[in-house]
Amino acid sequence: MQKLFPICRSITGNDVRKTLNIIQKIIPITQKEIPSGTKVFDWTVPDEWNIKDAYIKDKKGNKIIDFKKSNLHIVGYSIPFEGKLSLKELKEHLYTLPEQPEVIPYITSYYRRRWGFCLADNDYKQLKEGMYEVNIDSTLKPGSLTYGELIIKGKTDEEILISTYICHPSLANDDLSGPAVSTYLAKYLLNRKEKLRYTYRIIFIPETIGSISYLSLHKNHLKKDVVGGYVVTCIGDPGPFSYLQTRQENTLIDRITIHALKHSEKEYKIYNFIEKGSDERQYNSPGIDLPIGSLMRTKYGQNPKYHTSADDLNIVTPKALFESLEMYKLCVDVLEKNYKYITTIPCEPQLGKRGLYPTLSTKTSYKTVRDMMNLLAYCDGKNDLLWIAEKINRPIWSLFPIVEQLVDNKLIKIVKEYK
Ligand code: ZN
Repeated sequence: MQKLFPICRSITGNDVRKTLNIIQKIIPITQKEIPSGTKVFDWTVPDEWNIKDAYIKDKKGNKIIDFKKSNLHIVGYSIPFEGKLSLKELKEHLYTLPEQPEVIPYITSYYRRRWGFCLADNDYKQLKEGMYEVNIDSTLKPGSLTYGELIIKGKTDEEILISTYICHPSLANDDLSGPAVSTYLAKYLLNRKEKLRYTYRIIFIPETIGSISYLSLHKNHLKKDVVGGYVVTCIGDPGPFSYLQTRQENTLIDRITIHALKHSEKEYKIYNFIEKGSDERQYNSPGIDLPIGSLMRTKYGQNPKYHTSADDLNIVTPKALFESLEMYKLCVDVLEKNYKYITTIPCEPQLGKRGLYPTLSTKTSYKTVRDMMNLLAYCDGKNDLLWIAEKINRPIWSLFPIVEQLVDNKLIKIVKEYK
């Protein structure tokens, strides 16, 4: 994140490519380009934006706003401009956040051509009458929209979609924590010893136009194969976990994530889909209907630092990022192991002769046997393991070793892969 933080990302441009190049050193993503002007559903891929420098000088020649000091100073997608303006004329192009006078707001104008600068309201109030020299060394012309993609093949074609966005400039929690956690989740999936059950599609896209473009290109395939997934964002701060449910609610991904949060004994909050705000809007939209939720820490908009220069590397912590990654890994492990099982023998099997019944009766052995018997009682081929874990109120991961023993002893078997 420290490497990626200074880069002036946007929805297109060389700094998106530079960002993907850095991620590519850790995981083997492929970079793809969609030309400007491409029709994607109701939208059009915009021209590509690149910026080298931007500043405002006062009459003494002092740079009072300098893009080189913070890339949040420039309104994203500002058109090139050079000229001298009075303070009154200049103010038409200045943006501040009066209710948070110390921070620089993050503002963009992707779909209307304009130029502008953002600054702290405290600095804005210091501006004196006089002429100002403005210089924006940017280009906005046909090029392409760049995204990164990594597909990790599993045993089945059923897919889990992990989507994260890479379009914000120097902002840490929204959005850099998302690509950071997604990168290391991908690395975890790539390094797993067991062959994965699901195919994982991990995409690094610009928000909104990126997911719309991606869906426009891959809709049929995704509709056929995706069983669930996540938008990964706002995942690096030490606040409690939060989970934004899919539109349909109670889908596989909702059940898994809520179960994992509930049994991890961590503080968490569940949001309904009406609180949506990121690419899940596109994935869950009618006609697309992909069950994509979003596991976050402090949700965008809930933190006053959101979309301001205060969302810097100080608000994300290595510990929180690590915990978040662990939570995603846990959800993936549950996904991978959540099969439907059926018993192979009618009535209760004799556990003792298979060495599954403890010869010494203690409190813990009693608990394990009880879980084993309960598990057997519900392995009717209709309920998945998650349903059983919920039914008997145990964390699903506490059942994994028991399932393994029962499978090894041929007392239960997988009936059908979950869809
Ligand atoms: Zn954002």
